[in-house]
Amino acid sequence: MRVRLRNPDRTEQVPGPSTVAELLDHLDVVPHTVLVLHAGELVTADRHLPDDAEVEVRPVMSGGAGAAPRCVVCRAPAVIEEPRHRAAWCPSHFGDHVQAQVRKAIDHPPGGERTARMFSYADRLLVAVSGGKDSLALWDVLLDLGYRVDGLYVGLGIGGYSSRSQAICERFAEARGARLHVVDLASTYGYTTPSGATATGRSTCGVCGLSKRYVFNQVAVAHGYDVMVTGHNLDDEAATLLGNVVRWQDDFLARQQPVLPATGGNQVRKVKPLYRLSEREMAAYCVVRGIDYVVEECPLVDGNTGQELKAALDLLEAGAPGTKAQFLFGFLDRHAAWFAADEGHAAAAVDLRACARCGMPTTTEVCAFCRQRERIAAVLPIVEVSA
Ligand code: AMP
Ligand code: ZN
Ligand code: ZN
Repeated sequence: MRVRLRNPDRTEQVPGPSTVAELLDHLDVVPHTVLVLHAGELVTADRHLPDDAEVEVRPVMSGGAGAAPRCVVCRAPAVIEEPRHRAAWCPSHFGDHVQAQVRKAIDHPPGGERTARMFSYADRLLVAVSGGKDSLALWDVLLDLGYRVDGLYVGLGIGGYSSRSQAICERFAEARGARLHVVDLASTYGYTTPSGATATGRSTCGVCGLSKRYVFNQVAVAHGYDVMVTGHNLDDEAATLLGNVVRWQDDFLARQQPVLPATGGNQVRKVKPLYRLSEREMAAYCVVRGIDYVVEECPLVDGNTGQELKAALDLLEAGAPGTKAQFLFGFLDRHAAWFAADEGHAAAAVDLRACARCGMPTTTEVCAFCRQRERIAAVLPIVEVSA
């Protein structure tokens, strides 16, 4: 379907056929803020639109030029506007909006009707919390929605930044009566992110990323969790996608999905329920919900290319709100068609064996984490600790 949208004026291609209600849901447009015209005539939410339909979605809520924005739900003064949704909200309805987007991600992850939910109420979830806005907000939403969800904080040994982050996670867990696992790299594995980077000559982000991925899976498996949850948001995922496209990283593109099933033993499913929500929305959610989070950025992040990719996308988004979401969701909608039939990727995913050192899944004899640890142990004067 060809869909014309206004403010700013643009056209989007949306796969049809669908009902008007499904189309608005796909576009993230709040139904009562627009009129929908098909072939020049008004249509209601239940109308079926053919695949070749020409549709116009016209905003009807005034309040542009100068007028104070009002909540799209209750008309109270709004505290946050989202040009992408062409909407604004009061604090309470903004909280509902964020929860609804998480609900939608959990119950209808991309890939069409055949795709199962991210997880169910029977599953035991482990959410990785960094102390930042995204992961703490996500833990808050999942607890509110009634899921069985514990937290995991990984101490990376980045000085005061790490200790402040840990304290914030611990306070959140205590206030919500939730269980938090803490794994400290230094006391468990004998190194910190900075010392590991110095010892191996790798980038701090490289050492940090590999360590976190390993610990997430290790703790989830050791404690019998069904699903590992991370706070990657729309901005993170769109920037990762842009990076993967710019460098044509086929394997990474094949694995870039908000739900990654476990492909063998000692593995858990990995999910990203915030892929529909922007960084700004998550920060605002923490503010309206009174969630204390670490506002400072990791002091080691300098020179990380992810920031440049985000800046490039921000530029596009400023010119045409919704571009980031269109870029990411368009890719995810096509993902199954592009990669499902690709036997190479499927084979690579199942060709896993147990690491000779730690038993965790790997494609090589000794897993990347154990190899990194051995390289660090060869250089650092550490007391060896058992994993
Ligand atoms: P980042 O890689 O820093 O963008 O973080 C992505 C996600 O990884 C966060 O939303 C968290 O879910 C998780 N995460 C990052 N740092 C930590 C940490 N130190 N401990 C636990 N989880 C983390
Ligand atoms: Zn409201
Ligand atoms: Zn290993």
